[in-house]
Amino acid sequence: MIQDDFIFFKIDKKKHIALIAHDGKKQELVKWVDKNKDILKDHFLCGTGTTARLISEETGLPVKGYNSGPLGGDQQIGSRIVEGTIDFVVFLWDPLESQPHDPDVKALLRIAVVYDIPIANNLATADFLLTSKYMNEEYNRKVENFNKNMQTRIQKFSKSEAE
Ligand code: PGA
Repeated sequence: MIQDDFIFFKIDKKKHIALIAHDGKKQELVKWVDKNKDILKDHFLCGTGTTARLISEETGLPVKGYNSGPLGGDQQIGSRIVEGTIDFVVFLWDPLESQPHDPDVKALLRIAVVYDIPIANNLATADFLLTSKYMNEEYNRKVENFNKNMQTRIQKFSKSEAE
């Protein structure tokens, strides 16, 4: 309903999981995926270019690859979150290295919060997420009602209101 402040989007039992790791974290993520292969094989996996390829080659799981992170892969994943086709993220960013695409990294972290996406940024959180009861259930994530938000903003900026 347009008047509701929030709307809910269903995360299906079968999740659409994005996997991303900065260079210093790639081996950690590959090992984590390999360790959790039995769970992850039941979900749709995707990731930034290099991470996706590495995981796929080293674990045998199918992982759809987007562009490499520094070439826009994080932005592609962010846009899929907005469109509703990615609903779960494991993003091992490296706190000890600066990144050329730092603004994109920040943008992805922000959009994941806006869309109430479960997102793990370290292995401990990834372990907790993967063992959550919600991995085997549907889950309703709560998102700002963008139709209401836009309507309110249009009213605020429309000529008639300004006069
Ligand atoms: P990559 O990108 O998987 O292509 O290395 C990850 C990133 O740096 O965001």
